[in-house]
Amino acid sequence: MVPKWTRILERAEVVGNYAQPLVITALGKSVGTPEGGVTAEIVHFATFDDLKAADPAMVKDKIVFISNRMERFKTGAGYGPAVKARGAGASEAARKGAKAILIRSIGTDTHRLPHTGGVTYDEDAPKIAAAALSNPDADQLVRMLGYSDSISVHLNIQTTMEDPVEMYNVVGEITGRVKPDEYVVLGSHLDSWDLGTGAVDDGAGVAITMAAANLIQDLTKERPYRSIRVVLFSAEELGLIGARQYAEAHEKKGDMANHMIGAESDFGAGPVWALASNVSENAVHVVDKMAALMGPLGIVRADRKAGGGPDVGQLRAKGMPVMDLMQDGTDYFDLHHTADDTLDKVDPAALRQNVAAWVVFTYLAAEWPGSFR
Ligand SMILES: [Zn+2]
Repeated sequence: MVPKWTRILERAEVVGNYAQPLVITALGKSVGTPEGGVTAEIVHFATFDDLKAADPAMVKDKIVFISNRMERFKTGAGYGPAVKARGAGASEAARKGAKAILIRSIGTDTHRLPHTGGVTYDEDAPKIAAAALSNPDADQLVRMLGYSDSISVHLNIQTTMEDPVEMYNVVGEITGRVKPDEYVVLGSHLDSWDLGTGAVDDGAGVAITMAAANLIQDLTKERPYRSIRVVLFSAEELGLIGARQYAEAHEKKGDMANHMIGAESDFGAGPVWALASNVSENAVHVVDKMAALMGPLGIVRADRKAGGGPDVGQLRAKGMPVMDLMQDGTDYFDLHHTADDTLDKVDPAALRQNVAAWVVFTYLAAEWPGSFR
């Protein structure tokens, strides 16, 4: 069961000094402001940690603004430190008496397209409206605050949260010829944010994992040694709901131990450039073989341990070995969770390179008779 959240209206403008409209979008699951909106002075923090350390008297009755800037990295490493402001900022601000919160978008672009993404409300805090400013608008607000001690914003956000609706993980399997009860898991997620079309997050991942399994089915005369299971997880964006349910259901069923190895494609359609693993010592040589076969695709062996991605990571937490087919995410966070997440951003050649790499991983993982656990 998944909460049904809908965006109705989102508007913001500076009033008084430097009066001008601001481009914002409500964060996913945000409550609305009171009807008609709120007008309040901005209190500015450079980071979430600065808000955390702030005296509540500074924050009370204000609109909190966190201006932290997500840095661009090939690995997407700028996301983790910046995204705290989006997830936890609202409850932290609300506990200190804030009326609403605005954050600089968690994204690396310079376009006037704000990035949505989930806000997480703590049980013990009041719920306040939470929105992201487009990056140029956030920078503009910082500039105004440099010129004036008092900048006020009128913010009107209207959303609805209806009763939970039923959603499903979609699972397809090529059943193994020798060990039908052992699984190689290929994960990606079916849901996407409402602003764009989800072509990049995570339509690309869905296409890559399905195409890899399909290609193996088409090219091989017999079914694989163990089963290949493609899992399109539901409701990832709202809090990994489908993946958590999958992990719980299989733990209850007692067959988590049959999940031999897994990987996830959820980082757009950029080419794979490195292969990381988290498998038992006795299986490392198989991963080395995969990396060698992927070499002609421009892929190197990564020296870090694989995490498995957000969804498949839920299965890793229950003991499943994982691999990361690490993609070049240099541009990924220009598009992520924006209206600009559309199919024209997907490069067919890069998509094919992904599928080729996934076929190598999947085929060897399904055919090698030893254990990755
Ligand atoms: Zn995603």
